Amino acid sequence: MQNNYLLLVGKGRPVPTGLEPMLVDVFGIELERGAAYMLERMFEKARADGVELKALSGYRTKEYQKEIFDRSVRQRTEQGLSYEQAYEITSKNVAMPGESEHNTGLAVDIVTPQDFDVYEEFENTEQFRWLSANASDYGFILRYPKGKTDITGYVYEPWHYRYVGPYDARRIDNLDVTLEEYLGAV
Ligand SMILES: [Zn+2]
Repeated sequence: MQNNYLLLVGKGRPVPTGLEPMLVDVFGIELERGAAYMLERMFEKARADGVELKALSGYRTKEYQKEIFDRSVRQRTEQGLSYEQAYEITSKNVAMPGESEHNTGLAVDIVTPQDFDVYEEFENTEQFRWLSANASDYGFILRYPKGKTDITGYVYEPWHYRYVGPYDARRIDNLDVTLEEYLGAV
């Protein structure tokens, strides 16, 4: 199955069976071919504007997503939470295996060259400001905006960008809506 750039994947909306994105290597991560091509163009333009971007995480297998999820639950139980509490908090912050956009090859976490993890204060960096102004021209949208948790099911993630293609990215940007709202899937 080919990638549909408007594919909606999230809580209760797992990656469709048989989706096998055509992956290529780009900046040390793997992304779907079309998304990777545009990520390269975007990073080049950012550099020309004096802003260095770093791709921290791209495509993940379902198995790896499960590892991340289980690790997060384990860390929270080690901090004293019950399994149920740990599971509930983790599910608000980490996607279930098969329900992460990273399983599609269309999502990329972007940070500064100095960063080795994602963090909310990324919103205060010049990298974030540059992305806010330019990402949609390259087909990427900020997927989990501030104040939209009720709609997206995810906390604010200033680092998580989703490729939808330039035409739809610009429209989504101009309408100031989430992908769910754009697709009428709320
Ligand atoms: Zn992400």
